[in-house]
Amino acid sequence: MAAAASNLQIATLRHCQLPSRKGFKPSGTTLGSCSKVPSWAKLSSCSNISSLPFFQRKFVSSSVKYERTVTKAMAEASESKPGSGLSIDLKGKRAFIAGVADDNGYGWAIAKSLAAAGAEILVGTWVPALNIFESSLRRGKFDESRVLPDGSLMEITKVYPLDAVFDSPEDVPEDIKTNKRYAGSSNWTVKEVAESVKQDFGSIDILVHSLANGPEVTKPLLETSRNGYLAALSASSYSYISLLKHFVPIINPGGSSLSLTYIASERIIPGYGGGMSSAKAALESDTRVLAFEAGRKHKIRVNTISAGPLRSRAAKAIGFIDMMIDYSSANAPLQKELSAEEVGNAAAFLASPLASAITGAVIYVDNGLNAMGVGVDSPIFKDLDIPTDKH
Ligand code: NAD
Repeated sequence: MAAAASNLQIATLRHCQLPSRKGFKPSGTTLGSCSKVPSWAKLSSCSNISSLPFFQRKFVSSSVKYERTVTKAMAEASESKPGSGLSIDLKGKRAFIAGVADDNGYGWAIAKSLAAAGAEILVGTWVPALNIFESSLRRGKFDESRVLPDGSLMEITKVYPLDAVFDSPEDVPEDIKTNKRYAGSSNWTVKEVAESVKQDFGSIDILVHSLANGPEVTKPLLETSRNGYLAALSASSYSYISLLKHFVPIINPGGSSLSLTYIASERIIPGYGGGMSSAKAALESDTRVLAFEAGRKHKIRVNTISAGPLRSRAAKAIGFIDMMIDYSSANAPLQKELSAEEVGNAAAFLASPLASAITGAVIYVDNGLNAMGVGVDSPIFKDLDIPTDKH
């Protein structure tokens, strides 16, 4: 029982730990204020829940209401089998994450979760965003969000310039070659990036595609031009095929590859236009075919995470992200804002040997919104006694 109690304390302490550059400093004040957290807002301010193993984290980050269940389960587990556990271990693995240009998006969160599990991190950053990303990193602008559960800072071993719309130098048109935003960088086509990574490190184990672009995303599909539609597919779907194709030779057998998709691929989401819904549908279909091809030939797993709404730079550009977050809170089975970290943790699980039989799958990390058949905030349901968190 004593062991159970101390385990439980550690979990609560870690759950409430606030980011600190100098390392983990549990304080009575932090513990006290966090352990009485009554609201979703406060829960999310206890940001370092990722120090718990994945399965435990899932419960803790889902709801404070689960806290008792979790602590009870932990107490029971440690009573029956002292020291037992199931953790994500990516030590000795190397990941390349395409689509990281700030600390707000899913790519950054995935990098952090993979790093927390022990993986070495390489990133591919869109060429026009490279300078600002690298100088922000250098100047320490991201230091607070680089803090890992053990108090150390996530290290990015190398940042590669990348434009995933171009496969090799022959494909690059003159106006891009001479564009000043591209002028200072070289070797940024997909083929060249894969070659550079091979030269620098030999191989990788995890490939993540966390990028999308649709120049006409704000236009309804009926008003989308051919060029706009094809550009959305090129940047958001074919870019994944190209990345996998060029990286497959250097992904170690047993490796894993992952992309990010959105429910607009299969259900109507007004406002997500310009062929972006089509691009996500293609990405999901390609995930199945690529899982077969890369699985048979190279023993590599291919999955995609269908993520709920997040206020990333790309999502803000679409212009309706706050509405989608509110809609999710009002209608999803779990009434809370989704954190990027929850997607990062699912990605770490999928990349790990714990997911060794999962491939060709679309995994929803969206508070369950995909499972709903109706929006329960409709006045039509006003007489049904549906439990609702006021927010
Ligand atoms: P983000 O802005 O953090 O990431 C998009 C990245 O794509 C940026 O870093 C951008 O520089 C990069 N990019 C764009 N064009 C590129 C190109 N040609 N070559 C290389 N990089 C390029 O935004 P995010 O929302 O975290 O997006 C990551 C992924 O998550 C995307 O696939 C997106 O569709 C998906 N997703 C996002 C949400 C959401 O609500 N934010 C929901 C579901 C899925």
